[in-house]
Amino acid sequence: MNQRVMLNTPALEARPFQVYTQRQLDKIQPLQALPEELRFEMQVVSQVLPFRVNNYVIEELIDWNNIPADPIFQLTFPQKGMLKPEHYEQIAQLMRDQAPAAELKAAVEAVRQELNPHPAGQMDLNLPLLHGEPLPGMQHKYQETVLFFPSQGQVCHSYCTFCFRWAQFVGDKDLKFATNEATRLHQYLAEHQEVTDLLLTGGDPMVMKAKHLRQYLEGLLSPELEHVQNIRIGSKSLTFWPYRFVTDDDAHEILQLFRDLIAAGKHVAFMAHFNHWQEMETPICREAIRRLRATGAEIRTQAPLLKHINDDAQQWAKMWKRQVQLGMIPYYMFVERDTGAQHYFEVPLVQAWEIYRDAMQQVPGLCRTARGPSMSADPGKVEIQGVTEIHGEKVLALRFIQGRKADWIQRPFFAKYDESATWLNHLEPALGETAFFYEAEFAQMKQHKQALIAREA
Ligand SMILES: *Cc1c(COP(=O)(O)O)cnc(C)c1O
Repeated sequence: MNQRVMLNTPALEARPFQVYTQRQLDKIQPLQALPEELRFEMQVVSQVLPFRVNNYVIEELIDWNNIPADPIFQLTFPQKGMLKPEHYEQIAQLMRDQAPAAELKAAVEAVRQELNPHPAGQMDLNLPLLHGEPLPGMQHKYQETVLFFPSQGQVCHSYCTFCFRWAQFVGDKDLKFATNEATRLHQYLAEHQEVTDLLLTGGDPMVMKAKHLRQYLEGLLSPELEHVQNIRIGSKSLTFWPYRFVTDDDAHEILQLFRDLIAAGKHVAFMAHFNHWQEMETPICREAIRRLRATGAEIRTQAPLLKHINDDAQQWAKMWKRQVQLGMIPYYMFVERDTGAQHYFEVPLVQAWEIYRDAMQQVPGLCRTARGPSMSADPGKVEIQGVTEIHGEKVLALRFIQGRKADWIQRPFFAKYDESATWLNHLEPALGETAFFYEAEFAQMKQHKQALIAREA
C-alpha cells in the first residue's frame, strides 16, 4: 500500500492526548455504564495504587464488551482484588464514612508501606556512588549495564496496574528515582569502563520531548564514552501511545535522534513492553513499529507473566509469533515481582515454567529468544529452568541469567520442588544443602555496600 494512502486512513490521524487520573475516574465514559459497586471499588483501590489511563487505551485497546476480564482493562484499571481484603476494607470504610482527608491520607500511606515499595535493593544496593556520593537517579546492579532515570521521563502514557515501580508514581518525593543531571551520568560512565550498556528507564523515557532525550543521549557520542556501545530504552509507548512515533509534533525528531545515534556507531535497542497480543493489533501500533525499525533500531520485547492478563501459554505463543512477524525480538518473560499488588497477579513458579515451556513448544526458533521465567531478585535475575528429579528428589533447576557478581552467571543450582512458591525467597536449597551457593557472598556484598552508604550519610 502506498504511504500517502496509509497516512490518510483515520486510524493514523493525529490524536490529541487525553489522560485520566484518580480524580477523573468518574469522567471516563465507558465506566459510567458499569455498576456503581464496581466504580466504588476502583475509587478505593486507586487511592493506594497509581492510576492513569489515556483516550487511546480506552477507545482502541479495551474491549468494553468483555469487562472485567479484558486483559487491557486488567492492565490499566484498578480491581478490588489488587488490595488485600483487610487493606481494601480499611480504606473503603474511611471513604464510606467520608473521613477527613488527613486521616485517609495517613491510612493510605500506611498501606503503601506494607506493600514492599522498593523490592530488590533499588534504594540502596543498586545505588551507584560517584566519588563517594550516591547518584539517586541511577542504578548500577550488573557490571555492564547502568540504569538511568531521566527526570522528565518519570511518568508513563498510562500506568500498568502490576508495575513494580508503582511507588514512584504515588507522589511521594522520597520514593522517586530521578535525576536531571546528564553531566553526572556522563561523568559516572566515563569512570566506569566496564559499562557497555546504558538503559534509559522510568516511568517511560518516551514521554519526554525529543530535545530532552537528545540532551541525554548525544553526550554518549563523545570519545570518552566509546565503551558505552548499546543504548537501551525501556518503554511501553508502542502499546500506550504509538502516535509518539507517527503523528506527535516531534515524532520525526525522535526517529532522527535514533538514526543519528546509529550512524555514529551505537546500537539502539528499544526494549518494548508488551503483555498481550491485543496491544499490537491497531494500525497505528503497526506503523510505529515499522517506523522505529526503519531507523535501524532493534525492538526487543519483554513482559511479566500475570494472572488475569496473560497466564496462558496460547496467549504467549500468539504474542511471540506476532512480535517476530512484525520484526521484533522476544527477550524476557519475567515473574511478577514481590511488591504492590503481587498477590493479585502472581503465578507460582512451577506453573510459570509450565506456561513458558508450553508456549515455547508452539513457536518456531525465532521466538525462542525469550528467556524466562525470570525473577529480578536481590542477587540477580534467576531463571526457572525446569522441574526434574535428582537421586529421587524432585527439584527446581535454576540459573542466574544476570548476577550482582559475574561469577554467579550460568551456574546451575537446585531448589526443593515447591508448587506454591512465587518468589526466590520462598525457595529452599535441595539435595541436603543448607544455603544456595551465592548466599554467603551476597550477604558480604550487602554489608560492604551498606557500610559505604552509612559512611556518606
Ligand atoms: C534486567 C536488568 C538489567 C539488564 O540485564 P540484561 O540481562 O543485560 O538485559 C540491568 N539492570 C537491572 C537492575 C536489571 O534489572
